[in-house]
Amino acid sequence: MSKTLIRGAKVLGGEPQDVLIDGGTIAEVGTNLSAEGAEIVEAAGKVLLPGLVDLHTHLREPGREDSETVLTGTRAAASGGYTNVFAMANTFPVADTAGVVEQVWRLGQESGYCDVQPIGAVTVGLEGAQLAELGAMHESAAGVTVFSDDGKCVHDAVIMRRALEYVKAFNGVVAQHAQEPRLTEGAQMNEGVVSAELGLGGWPAVAEESIIARDVLLAEHVGSRVHICHLSTAGSVEIVRWAKSRGIDVTAEVTPHHLLLTDELVRSYNPVYKVNPPLRTERDVHALREALADGTIDIVATDHAPHPHEDKDCEWAAAAMGMVGLETALSVVQETMVDTGLLDWAGVADRMSVKPAQIGQAAGHGRPVSAGEPANLTLVDTAYRGRVDPAGFASRSRNTPYEGRELPGRVTHTWLRGKATLVDGKLT
Ligand SMILES: [Zn+2]
Repeated sequence: MSKTLIRGAKVLGGEPQDVLIDGGTIAEVGTNLSAEGAEIVEAAGKVLLPGLVDLHTHLREPGREDSETVLTGTRAAASGGYTNVFAMANTFPVADTAGVVEQVWRLGQESGYCDVQPIGAVTVGLEGAQLAELGAMHESAAGVTVFSDDGKCVHDAVIMRRALEYVKAFNGVVAQHAQEPRLTEGAQMNEGVVSAELGLGGWPAVAEESIIARDVLLAEHVGSRVHICHLSTAGSVEIVRWAKSRGIDVTAEVTPHHLLLTDELVRSYNPVYKVNPPLRTERDVHALREALADGTIDIVATDHAPHPHEDKDCEWAAAAMGMVGLETALSVVQETMVDTGLLDWAGVADRMSVKPAQIGQAAGHGRPVSAGEPANLTLVDTAYRGRVDPAGFASRSRNTPYEGRELPGRVTHTWLRGKATLVDGKLT
């Protein structure tokens, strides 16, 4: 088996150490380790993290291979430092049966770049009317543990209650896209000062907050756990904080774009800024950062949402919602959380690897960087600064809001069970 010696890396941002990979496992962590028989990766000054885990990725296959495939999406993931991604269920056909989730899982296995754990739909066809076969998806080869109708809200309280009751049997989790449908009919952007000035239909904060409030109470009532996708408002933070203080088993995620961008950008009418939930206000961004720092928000998830050029290069009202994110997530987190002093690198490892792996039960991921653990690792050049150039993306889509923007940090190496998937910033 091949050996790799990562020399002098700041493990989780701490003191420089050597990390020896032997086969698929971390064999040794220490100083002045022998390089005999090993390929050497000089890592002085760089930060070594456990491989990142994304609980919220849209890989688009089956059905929308013009925007992304499991292969291109997992290549994008490896480029961004990820070793495990959870693939959302809103494909064509919808991932609401054992057959479809097994297909996605198998494609992930074949890609070799990143583990893929399919998310199963909560309801048949994401239509919100009838529970999908949650048990069959869990018992399939894909071993589904996370269920979500993401893109749509499970708005019927009885269906949500039943889903929470059902997944409790195997400690699964329902990940809710919190969007009250009637309150967001015709919504084009955040409801507020900017939407009023532009005359665009508003997506009010209460449409998110009312669903979160309902669902944490349902989770408490049922004694099950619930996960909230892409939290975007200061009010949502307050509700989750209250629920946690009450002992309710709720976890929540925030996207990199909601940590950085605001609805002021919509004044450009550039559809690259159109996303669901919408970009909010400076006050919300501040609350989200604070909540991620203090642990009220558990994790960062990308909501990587690739769209082909023709679905984004049109007028605002007609454009699709969503942004790609796998290849820029860590840089945005460094910019918004690390370089601002809100979070250290150990905190980043916790929010982008350890906790998402725990929530989704991703075996072998989000583990400590220590001997005997699977060698799922990410090496980051944190001193790097550069402009985002989507032409270099591994994703099939280019709909990034950061084109031309200077961001810090660059993933140089990624290892999946000891196999390098990214070397010196290039996919293997
Ligand atoms: Zn969503």
